[in-house]
Order: sequence, then C-alpha cells, then structure tokens
Amino acid sequence: MRTYAELIAEFKNIAENPRKAMEAFKAETGKGAVGILPAHVPEEIVHAAGYLPIGIWGAQKKAINKARTYLPPFACSLMQSVMELQLEGVYDELDCVIYSSLCDTLKCMNQKWHGKTPVIVFTHPQNRKIAKKAANVFCREEYAIVKAKLEDILECTITNKAIQNSIAVYNENRAACRKFCDVAAEYAAVVKPAERHAVLKARWFMEKSKHTDLVNELIAALTAQPAPKFTGKRVIVSGIMLEPTELLDVFEENGLAIVADDLLHESRSFRQDVPEDADALMALARAWTDFDGCALATDADKPKGRMIIEDCKKYNADAVIVAMMKFCDPEEFDYPILIQEFAAAGIPNLQIEIDQESTVFEQVKTRIQTFAEIL
Ligand code: SF4
Repeated sequence: MRTYAELIAEFKNIAENPRKAMEAFKAETGKGAVGILPAHVPEEIVHAAGYLPIGIWGAQKKAINKARTYLPPFACSLMQSVMELQLEGVYDELDCVIYSSLCDTLKCMNQKWHGKTPVIVFTHPQNRKIAKKAANVFCREEYAIVKAKLEDILECTITNKAIQNSIAVYNENRAACRKFCDVAAEYAAVVKPAERHAVLKARWFMEKSKHTDLVNELIAALTAQPAPKFTGKRVIVSGIMLEPTELLDVFEENGLAIVADDLLHESRSFRQDVPEDADALMALARAWTDFDGCALATDADKPKGRMIIEDCKKYNADAVIVAMMKFCDPEEFDYPILIQEFAAAGIPNLQIEIDQESTVFEQVKTRIQTFAEIL
C-alpha cells in the first residue's frame, strides 16, 4: 500500500499539470478533452461521450495584458485570467469548451471567445424554486441541446444509458470526495490545507472513476493510524476558489486547518448527488433545481449562510474565512447577508480577496496572521 505522502505527491502532480493529465488520457483512450468553464456544467454528458471533462479555473498570472482588449478591468479576476490564457492559445487543444451563462461576466465570454476551439453556451433556468416543474423541463431541454451540439462536434452518439452510467460514476466520486473531506477534518493535524486542496483540485483533471480510486486509497492510508490531536484553529472557507498554494500555506503557517469548505471549486461541486431518473437528462436537470447554497443558483430564501453555520456546528469550526474572487458580483451581493448571519450566530469571520493577477500575498498574509492571533 502506498503511503499518505506518496499519494499526496501524485495528487499534487496531477493538480499542477493538467496538460500532462490530458495527454495521458489521450494516450490511453485515443479521445480528447472538453473544457468545463465554471460552473454547474453537467459534465456527465461529456463523460458519457468517452471524453475527458477538464476544469478551466484560470491560473495565477504576473500580469493580464491581452485580455484587457476584450474584457473591462472590472470583470472578475477569474475570467480575466481565463481570457488571457485563451488568447495565449492554452485551450486550443481542447475539442470544445462548455459553459452556462450564469453571471454577467460569463454572458460576455461567449461574444469574446476566440481561437479554434468551438464553444457550447447554454442557460440555466433561475426560477428554480417557484416554478420547479417548468424549470426542470426548460433545463432538460437546454441539456438536450448541449448533448446534440456535443454529438455534432465530437462526431459520436451519447445514449441515455451512457449518461446514466456516467451519473453513477460521478455520484460515487462525489461520495468519495465528501468522505475525504470528513476524514481530512478528523485528521486536521495531518492534512495540510494545500494537500486537501490538491486532492480536490486533481478531481477537475482526472477521469472520475480513477480519481475515486485514488481518493479511496488515500483515505485508507490516512486512517491506517489513529488521528493525532490537532491544537490549532479549525476554519471553514467559502467562495469561488481558494488558490494559489502560497495562500494555503499561510493558513498552515498560522495554525489554521480547513475542516470544511463551501467553495465552488471544491465541495459545492460534489456536495449533492444527481437523483435517479429513467430520463438521464431530466435527472441532471433535477439536480440543478434541487441545488442550494450557491450565489449562481437563485434562491430568494438565501440558505447559504445557514448552511455554513450548520457546518460550523458539525465540524466544530472556530471561524469562517470568505475567499472573495475579485470583482465577482454574485458572491459580492451575497456577502452582506452572510456577515449579518455570522454576527448573529457569534461566528468570527474574515474576508480575503482572491486575485489571479498577483504574485505577492503580503497583505493577505497579514490579514490571516492577525485573524489567527485574534482567534
Ligand atoms: S461567478 Fe463570479 S467568478 Fe465566476 S465567472 Fe461569474 S463573476 Fe466570475
């Protein structure tokens, strides 16, 4: 059996080298990869075609230059970075890119996308709770259009049975990731924030059944020994994503363990299974209308804060850190509600900014250090 350290090294290697992961998949299967732009894309349809769905989450850049021609400077930092990489030709080897126009920035991306990679853009219905039945029908129809366009681009047929099989593979992976997060919380003295992140980030670049096997192997290696006592502070992180690794290392340096997350990049993408339904596309549609606690999935009831507060109790967390993607309107609009709810529940909290056009983190370091000292 491989050790925890050996397995973490493998996750880190995959998380840091998506191109290598894509090339390995191509060499093994003879099939290519489809880019999945955040967020809520029904990846199972791509998986059912036998292609590798690969997450597009930008990258830390020293400077954004070319993207300024196409996006205003107040477009979110994530899409600025994605646009820059796209203009540099980084995504040209993908067979296709899929995304939903869930926010204003994503709506603009369709008109601005250049290069040779075809793009499939679709719409999620936002009247999810007050007209659920109609929303399900609308959403299923959108997914049927995505499927038809994919079949056209990839020159293949995607059957209902194949999507059902892929849903089962994804649900198994979601369960394994949820279990890993719980085990990581229990072994907070062992699992460093950057290691936890590498395990979950690798998910975006691997065929899901392979990721599931690796996660299960990691859980077995981790739990082979009893959990040592953790003497630092336990925090929950929320936001779109929390990167780069240097930032996660600041958590570790200040004795903070991440015991749960509400990140779109991480738990929000696997905290809920897709339900069973004889019609696979309807099952995927129902997963969207059932989904709660994301700024991109409209719900006038705003359950997100309550969900995070519940997790604070469940994981015995000392505080919440909100990782705010720079200029992400949907997350910014939710933030005033969150801080009021955290204050009412007596939960210490901090907001830090995530900017992919930055290589210096001194300001964030100071904020986290001060917060850790207050805790
Ligand atoms: S949800 Fe936020 S981070 Fe994601 S594309 Fe829209 S503005 Fe950018």
